[in-house]
Amino acid sequence: MLRRVSLKDYESVSGSALIDEIRSLGENLQGYSVWHINSTIIGGGVAEILSSLVPLMEEAGLTVSWKVLSGSPEFFNTTKQFHNGMHGQPVNVTGEMLESYLATAQKNQHLLTGDADLVVIHDQQPLGLTTFRGENSGRWLWYCHVDPRYAVPSVWYFLAPMIATCDAAVFHLPEYARDLPVLQYFMPPAIDPLSDKNKDVSPAEYEAVLEKLGIDPAGPPIILQVSRFDRLKDPTGVIEAFKLVRKNMACRLILAGGSADDDPEGATVLDEVRALVDGDPDITVLSLDPDANLEINVLQRRADVIVQKSLREGFGLTATEALWKGKPLVATPTGGLAHQVLDGETGLIARTAEEMAKQVERLLINPALGRRLGAAGREHVRQRFILPVYLYNWLRLINLLNG
Ligand code: UDP
Repeated sequence: MLRRVSLKDYESVSGSALIDEIRSLGENLQGYSVWHINSTIIGGGVAEILSSLVPLMEEAGLTVSWKVLSGSPEFFNTTKQFHNGMHGQPVNVTGEMLESYLATAQKNQHLLTGDADLVVIHDQQPLGLTTFRGENSGRWLWYCHVDPRYAVPSVWYFLAPMIATCDAAVFHLPEYARDLPVLQYFMPPAIDPLSDKNKDVSPAEYEAVLEKLGIDPAGPPIILQVSRFDRLKDPTGVIEAFKLVRKNMACRLILAGGSADDDPEGATVLDEVRALVDGDPDITVLSLDPDANLEINVLQRRADVIVQKSLREGFGLTATEALWKGKPLVATPTGGLAHQVLDGETGLIARTAEEMAKQVERLLINPALGRRLGAAGREHVRQRFILPVYLYNWLRLINLLNG
């Protein structure tokens, strides 16, 4: 869903020099047409980014369309298997699944009607469309939003020939480069500091949201993880860490997350988490609507410590959101999280539930440490991972592709 945003509004966050550079890069690209193709209009990191990036690219002078691939539950089952396989999880990909994947691409061929100077395929769901690239004269770019280093062969070698038909592949981080016969470029994603999820909130909004969610604004400290209910986000490990902290001090845990249209496993994992919590009065499991942006914002602002215990993570925008709010963050040094949480500088690193419990305790006991890390974390994000920086990087890349 597109947001109403304007470049000028971002000057207060990024400074006007960057906005001027964006406008000047955009001058070479007036009317240049870009299609972004992904698989959800709402839910998950890619939809989150596109909802703000698309209008700003347009304002910079490009002609931008956001197209969403549609597919059956079986298709999204297959692509979730691909997602897990890309993250190195053992998966069972059958010939039937591969056929239905390509059949879905065929059914979505209409998305390619017309011509674009640049077609951006986000993640693996729409990659089958490369088969129907046909006469379209523009460049094609595959944007990988996961950490592909541990991809299982059955998935990678199915996808790699399709990636190879693109003109370039973009990964979040340099260490994600793969053996591919195409230009590889690195561009981490970003958060929108002015969206409902990240803007400053008024005291009235803050109180109303906490009341609606049934969270006592006073009471023991709150440890929070915001994530889709996905085993790779390790909700079980978070609960384990929380129970260790609670042995030593009064505290509460909130696990907040919703589902995404392209993630059919969410409901099962949510059931697993609820069963594990088993009515524990100190643990709140919140199943949020996909548009619960203000809710997430307020929860992050209320939290005393935010954790992100992902086992695998492409970049981890939830961590970026936490740091932007100046919150102390404890995260596993997984994928993009390691670039966001510089241990002892912008947050604290923990590899296991035991380590996470110790780091959380440290922060709860010493709020001054949390404030120092949080302030540095916010500045780290401001310089690297906010939307104007991201737009600037995009325009540089497009200028490069154009020679
Ligand atoms: N998110 C959300 N509702 C939820 C869970 C997550 O809006 O219930 C958002 C979250 O705030 C973040 C994005 O979805 O902006 C998730 O991006 P991230 O890179 O952390 O993980 P992904 O879900 O893409 O693996």
